[in-house]
Amino acid sequence: MKKALVTGGAGFLGSNLCGRLIRDGLFVICVDNLYTGSKANIDHLMNDPHFMFIEHDVREPLEIGADYIYNLACPASPPHYQKDPIMTAKTSLFGALNMLELARANNARILQSSTSEVYGEPLIHPQTEDYRGNVNPIGIRSCYDEGKRMAESLFFDYHRQYDLDIRVIRIFNTYGPYMNPEDGRVVSNFIVQALKGEDITIYGDGTQTRSFCYVDDLIEGMVRMMNSEDFYGPVNLGNPGEFTVAELAQKVIELTGSESKLVYKDLPGDDPTKRRPDISLAKEKLGWEPEIQLDEGLQRTVEYFKSVI
Ligand code: NAD
Ligand code: UDP
Repeated sequence: MKKALVTGGAGFLGSNLCGRLIRDGLFVICVDNLYTGSKANIDHLMNDPHFMFIEHDVREPLEIGADYIYNLACPASPPHYQKDPIMTAKTSLFGALNMLELARANNARILQSSTSEVYGEPLIHPQTEDYRGNVNPIGIRSCYDEGKRMAESLFFDYHRQYDLDIRVIRIFNTYGPYMNPEDGRVVSNFIVQALKGEDITIYGDGTQTRSFCYVDDLIEGMVRMMNSEDFYGPVNLGNPGEFTVAELAQKVIELTGSESKLVYKDLPGDDPTKRRPDISLAKEKLGWEPEIQLDEGLQRTVEYFKSVI
């Protein structure tokens, strides 16, 4: 039985991925320090004979056998990754380095979950993989953005220098079940606020855009990328449907029938004004594109949050 190691496996994407890989017939080793993830996310997997949890911080080296490594460990929500930015940068950098060394020791294939944040405040729209980005190297988001850029750089150097079998995906805003209600990202914030009848917090004037991908679609793309041959990436994975933050708030209010009011708060520093993936490469190389559009994905996510809050 092939073994897949998932770092950050107790987080939002990681817990969804662990379940999927077990269903695909792999033995899954979930590695997490529970910084933003939780055991509740993997509770349903704990008794599965094909699942193992190891509490470990990827800033430290790890010795264990694995055929595939999915490197997801890193806080992803701006308030969480900005709380201790030096820890975020170390997680991205040392985590990537330690997992690349582990892949080398095992002759394993390793996938890095990079991000649309490598494009920063994009000057081309939609973003293609050959766009080199417009990142502020000294701003409050740079611990995350530059950490992820450095990790990509390390992945490609391990590939060139050691012929390591790498895969790099750039994930655009993804949402769905197993997001932490306290996560702080926009979809979970708006749904939780709407369900609790609290004010819905729009940062800035709400005209900034994002492209929201439902988690099942994203995980499908991630697994296809891991299983692809002779294609290393980077490849954008996301849903090209683009919405303003104000439109998202409106949709959430309609779907939940909430009486919450919209309130406007300061826009955080360096918040990108727009973001939308060009997914031509993913379509061509992986035969992948999202199937679940925003209304349906939000409905499923609302049902999830109703069951946990
Ligand atoms: P998340 O915060 O829910 O999950 C991150 C997980 O990593 C958590 O379980 C956390 O405890 C763990 N972790 C953090 N630091 C660690 C460390 N030093 N050692 C071990 N574990 C550690 O976030 P997510 O949305 O599931 O993101 C997963 C990955 O996908 C991240 O690498 C993120 O950068 C990337 N990503 C996500 C999105 C998205 O929209 N969800 C977009 C772009 C990139
Ligand atoms: N946002 C918002 N209200 C919130 C949380 C976020 O208006 O309660 C905005 C945020 O300023 C950004 C967008 O929603 O413009 C997406 O934010 P998120 O933190 O989800 O992801 P990222 O900025 O990393 O894409």
